[in-house]
Amino acid sequence: MPHAEASRPAVAIIGAGWAGLACALQLVRNGFRPVVFESGPEPGGRARRAQLKNQWRDNGQHLMLSGCQALRCLCNDIGVSLIQKPFIYTDGTRGLSLTGRKGRFGLLAALFQAQGFSWFERLSLLRALLSLQRHDWQTPSHQTVAQWLSHTQQPTSLIKTFWEPLALAISNTPIDRASMSRFASVLRDTLGSGAGALDLLQPTADLSTCIVFPLIRAIESGGGEVRCHSRIRAITPMNDKGYKLSLTEGDPELDFDYVVLTVPPWSLKTITLPFNSELLAQRFGHQPIATVYLGFDETVRLPAPLFQLDGPTASDARIWAIDRADCGEPGVIAISLSAAGHWATLNHDDLALSCMDRLRIATGIHNPCLWHRVVSVRRATPEALPSARMQPNEQQPLPGLFLAGDWTHPDYPATLEAALQSGNAVSRQILSSK
Ligand SMILES: Cc1cc2nc3c(=O)[nH]c(=O)nc-3n(C[C@H](O)[C@H](O)[C@H](O)COP(=O)(O)OP(=O)(O)OC[C@H]3O[C@@H](n4cnc5c(N)ncnc54)[C@H](O)[C@@H]3O)c2cc1C
Repeated sequence: MPHAEASRPAVAIIGAGWAGLACALQLVRNGFRPVVFESGPEPGGRARRAQLKNQWRDNGQHLMLSGCQALRCLCNDIGVSLIQKPFIYTDGTRGLSLTGRKGRFGLLAALFQAQGFSWFERLSLLRALLSLQRHDWQTPSHQTVAQWLSHTQQPTSLIKTFWEPLALAISNTPIDRASMSRFASVLRDTLGSGAGALDLLQPTADLSTCIVFPLIRAIESGGGEVRCHSRIRAITPMNDKGYKLSLTEGDPELDFDYVVLTVPPWSLKTITLPFNSELLAQRFGHQPIATVYLGFDETVRLPAPLFQLDGPTASDARIWAIDRADCGEPGVIAISLSAAGHWATLNHDDLALSCMDRLRIATGIHNPCLWHRVVSVRRATPEALPSARMQPNEQQPLPGLFLAGDWTHPDYPATLEAALQSGNAVSRQILSSK
């Protein structure tokens, strides 16, 4: 190893999801030598492309909003442009554009121009948003979204058609379990952050091609490494300082000055760790997400970039359809189903048929659907429960050993933004401890 390399502190990052890669980028930019170990064959973690019936396609539709600061900074940093589209909430009969609205007067204007909402609904929505704003987007840490909706006396029709689908898409947790304070943090950084903070950001290709691969190129060009097919089995502290990492049995152990664990909570138990992670992991459950991809002829477009549909069964919450034309897939519509519902009992074909039906009713698209694919991820995200929170001292269980990942974020639900911010935060901790 050249001398200059040997003098750079070595950091092992376990997991090549967005948290691990963001952390590696910051470290490489600051003179460290990060090596990212990924057990799977592809980098990107839960937000990457996957081969579905011989075609590369995202392993799930991901919604990204322009108020996500870490995402925007990352894209600027690695030279990636995302397409920005107005967030217009619509289901064909009701419509509301919150894009570009700031403050009380912006909200008033948006609600005045909204279509299909009764005046009672508009006033209730305005009252709830202004009350959040007045309290600086802070809510009691134990409160669920459902409790807050009841406390602010939101009408059932508004909950069903506005609050519940929005909160489900953001928190991936049923509203009677989801933490209101985490949901409110996202509202603060989008709705509450002024013009353009609630726009949709769309990648111009699949997530790996558009973001993950350019990110890895930036890490590698700075001297970092990303190794796929590299499952870490054990982390052992060394006597003086640093850690030894064990990969496959028989392989030599590797020495590092620092270790950053970015695996999801349910994967902690698969690694032999020098601290007890059992109680920590138990606090975090998980929720599924299914994405139904429907393929039409290339001319078919959704009437709006994001369209709300009735759920696949009568007892399901409303769901979101997204046009994939800007992601290089003209004629493809992705429908996202967040958090366990009755839909999870349907087989993939029935689920796709039901979504197709809902799409036709809401949008009037009657072209024949040429193909469908359903990607169902059982453990898509940790649940955003009010009780599922890491204590500040749990972030660094031992000197030089850190935890990052979407679930470790103090304020956000488990999202891409939470993952990126957590990776950046740990890189800052390592830089300051040098
Ligand atoms: C279908 C789906 C839809 C989603 N939709 C959205 C959305 O619309 N908007 C949004 O913001 N977020 C969404 N999310 C959530 C988002 O994808 C995650 O919050 C984010 O990707 C988590 O990144 P992470 O780096 O924290 O964890 P991960 O992506 O889970 O990365 C951890 C990595 O560690 C690896 N690993 C585990 N054990 C080991 C080991 N022993 N050795 C080496 N490597 C190991 C794993 O293989 C994985 O690649 C969605 C997730 C899914 C699954």
